[in-house]
Amino acid sequence: MDIQKIGIVGAGQMGSGIAQVCAQAGLDVVLNDISEEAVQRGIDRISASLERMVRKDKLSADEASAALARIERGVASGSLAACDFVIEGATENVQIKRDILRQLDGVLQPGAIIATNTSSVSITMLAATLANPARFIGMHFFNPVPMMELIEVIRGIQTSDITFEATVALARRIGKTAIDVRNSPGFAVNRILVPMINEAVFVLQEGIASAEGIDAGMKLGANHPIGPLALADLIGLDTVLAIMKVLYRDFNDPKYRPAALLKEMVDAGYLGRKNGRGFYTY
Ligand code: NAD
Repeated sequence: MDIQKIGIVGAGQMGSGIAQVCAQAGLDVVLNDISEEAVQRGIDRISASLERMVRKDKLSADEASAALARIERGVASGSLAACDFVIEGATENVQIKRDILRQLDGVLQPGAIIATNTSSVSITMLAATLANPARFIGMHFFNPVPMMELIEVIRGIQTSDITFEATVALARRIGKTAIDVRNSPGFAVNRILVPMINEAVFVLQEGIASAEGIDAGMKLGANHPIGPLALADLIGLDTVLAIMKVLYRDFNDPKYRPAALLKEMVDAGYLGRKNGRGFYTY
């Protein structure tokens, strides 16, 4: 399948990153959000990111302006009609995602593929929103998108092989490495990573080791580049808690119960780096 024009729905943190890597790979991009202002914020984020790359000599100024010029702004869903592939990266809310998918189903060509970057909603369930669920797939990027190499490509039970193969080819074309994942709560990476972080919070809560001790232990003893509690601060404690709650609810297994200290810190408004205080102070 030849993909030339790609639509990105949601110009937030993730959508703008995805638009940037697609434009850098030479694809024509339509960046879509609910208002001109929201699209502009996404474009500003992309410009700032490209400028940083130019300053660090990772990109020439000409390449940066060519990438930016490949991004078209869109507000109505009709602006996406000519796209061969659309990635939904809007707010993590099931109703919002279902509404977007129904609109896309109405405007796109029958052969176009629709992917979602959701972190926690079932791909199989979202696929069922479409008249043809075989053209739907999960494409789970990692933050910050221009830096992180992985994409989890997640098949719902309805996803066709053609859709899967085109998605893996797109991942490769934008310089990423895809792993093949079956739809399941937390997919593969968050299901492993987030319970490990949660366990580190239990170790802290039980007074077994200090935050510094736990992080040094996992860096020096398990060869992790960053300790689990520092990583929790980077991800955001509210996001870590939200993922644990999804795992706990969807698997209905007590091994995924969130640590009480994690809940208490979120209740206190200690969310990590984004507001200056988490397991560490910034
Ligand atoms: P964000 O809040 O930064 O951006 C969401 C954007 O979606 C906003 O600009 C909002 O205006 C827009 N939006 C809302 N409704 C819309 C609609 N109907 N049509 C078009 N745009 C709409 O959120 P984010 O962090 O970029 O997350 C987006 C998605 O990516 C979520 O599904 C999230 O779970 C997933 N995700 C996030 C991360 C992360 O680390 N932040 C990592 C992987 C996946």
